[in-house]
Amino acid sequence: MKIAFIGLGNMGGPMASNLVAAGHQVVGFDPVAPLPEGVAQATSAAAAAQEGEVVITMLPNGQILRDVAKELIPAMQEGAVLCDCSTVDVDSTKAVAKMAADRGLGALDAPVSGGVGGATNGTLTFMVGGSQAAFDKVKPLFDIMGQKAVHCGDAGAGQSAKICNNMILGVTMIATCEAFALADKLGLDREKMFDVVSTSSGQSWSMNTYCPAPGVGPQTPADNDYKPGFASELMLKDLRLSQQAAESADADTPMGKLAAALYAAFVEAEDGKGRDFSAMLPRFEKRGRT
Ligand code: NAD
Repeated sequence: MKIAFIGLGNMGGPMASNLVAAGHQVVGFDPVAPLPEGVAQATSAAAAAQEGEVVITMLPNGQILRDVAKELIPAMQEGAVLCDCSTVDVDSTKAVAKMAADRGLGALDAPVSGGVGGATNGTLTFMVGGSQAAFDKVKPLFDIMGQKAVHCGDAGAGQSAKICNNMILGVTMIATCEAFALADKLGLDREKMFDVVSTSSGQSWSMNTYCPAPGVGPQTPADNDYKPGFASELMLKDLRLSQQAAESADADTPMGKLAAALYAAFVEAEDGKGRDFSAMLPRFEKRGRT
């Protein structure tokens, strides 16, 4: 298949490489990032888009997606599908899907979970919104770039799943970190705390797989001086997207709201920027009751 790939940064670069390795022809555009080996260079997003049966975007945020979509949708071939894998706000996703539909083109929102490691190893999970026909067309590409693709519903359903998942992740990480800090003050050994909680009702991915305490449980960014991993500012971005969505859908999300406020303080007023999102644990260790 001929694929156009726009946005070849930390995630897009390795995803495009995997498509090339599987034998697809990929033409790419990124104003900054170097193109991976085997990806043909286009002079603009529109020039890349006119070549692709599927046009994949992997961009930093919703405003950039809207701007790029305005440029590339008019250039796309008849019958082509636009597949946006970025994490963006639900409103931008829906606006871009409408732009594509107005030209008679298919569009998918297909954000991912799994990080740079998953992009490199082809083990991402895709959560996908859009029509069944568009999903069926892109599914073979999801199977190359990832290990699982869930068709969640119509336009916006993929982004909705992503931000709900990451709201749970932010909240459980904070709960896990504050519980470790409380356990310390109560004199409870961290290894014992992990042994109990990871097999009891307090267990979660944050505790069992991504334990924020160094030297406890599996190897995680906590064992590497909290180098990301998944940076706190990316968690803050996702929590803000969940709050924006909650506001526009009139949903009550008090824990998500508090998690967004805590990560905002951590990133913007404390030392969280550039540190893994599990570095909330040393943050709580330093503090008494507030
Ligand atoms: P990145 O900043 O490394 O890559 C984004 C790329 O988009 C950059 O190379 C940039 O030059 C390019 N870009 C910006 N404006 C452009 C334009 N007008 N036309 C073409 N390209 C343009 O970011 P990333 O880590 O690859 O993340 C991409 C998306 O994936 C984000 O939405 C992020 O939230 C999401 N995501 C990231 C991770 C992760 O662990 N990094 C995990 C899951 C989801």
